Amino acid sequence: MNKLKVATAWLDGCSGCHMSFLDMDERLLQLAELVDVVYSPIVDTKEFPDHVDITLVEGAVASVDDETKIRKIRAHTTTLIAMGDCAITGNVPAMRNPFGPEAILNRAYFETADLQPQIPCLVVPRLLKVVRPVHEFVEVDVFLPGCPPSADTFHAALTAILAGKPLDIPALTRFGA
Ligand code: SF4
Repeated sequence: MNKLKVATAWLDGCSGCHMSFLDMDERLLQLAELVDVVYSPIVDTKEFPDHVDITLVEGAVASVDDETKIRKIRAHTTTLIAMGDCAITGNVPAMRNPFGPEAILNRAYFETADLQPQIPCLVVPRLLKVVRPVHEFVEVDVFLPGCPPSADTFHAALTAILAGKPLDIPALTRFGA
């Protein structure tokens, strides 16, 4: 049986959604019989593959790099899943929106710097003026809410998608619910 190709990607998020994904624990072994993880922060693949069946994206779109990344992912993914509230609403990263990127950079790299205050220009990508959710840039097929979505939510959603069954997101278990 051909396994489906699955990817996970990380935009502007805290990695908590990925941690919750890993909390599926032994259920990951069952999923591994059905899918190959071809790109993810937890595997050593540097380039997004030409074709991925299912991609789960954590985090909001906050920088030019994030925007480039999500457009590439969308172009090469059949089913795109926005995982977690940052990807769906902007959530925590969007809390900077009332202040703008300049104020945030000044706070991080000048006001609170003990040594060599300066705005990094090589490693930190240029920030967008406003942090926005994934669906404002590309079409999203599935929304998995939660901060983070619980492991049970991930398992129920992926099991349904892999079986070709409809999702009932409001009935899924959310973290802390
Ligand atoms: Fe972190 Fe919550 Fe955002 Fe997920 S939704 S990346 S857990 S802040």
